[in-house]
Amino acid sequence: MKNWKCETCGRYIRVKPEKIEKNSKVVFRVCINSRCHSKSKAVIGKVLERKGDFFYIVCGVDFYYVNFKDLYPINAPVEFIYNMFGECYCD
Ligand SMILES: [Zn+2]
Repeated sequence: MKNWKCETCGRYIRVKPEKIEKNSKVVFRVCINSRCHSKSKAVIGKVLERKGDFFYIVCGVDFYYVNFKDLYPINAPVEFIYNMFGECYCD
């Protein structure tokens, strides 16, 4: 989680698409369609490539194309970290 900390102010940097590197692990939800209802489950995948706000992600034998707003880097700070330690506004 070190690389999410700002060197200038010591607060935590908000996750942006360009901060997610190739081969890093991300969490996202995929829909499981069953006969009478649809559910979703959390999947952990590896980033292969980024195209703007979209990511190509591999998870086992499956490939996904996921929008940035629907995924989360596995090593990124969670919401309460920003509340506790502050959010960086240096840029
Ligand atoms: Zn800062």
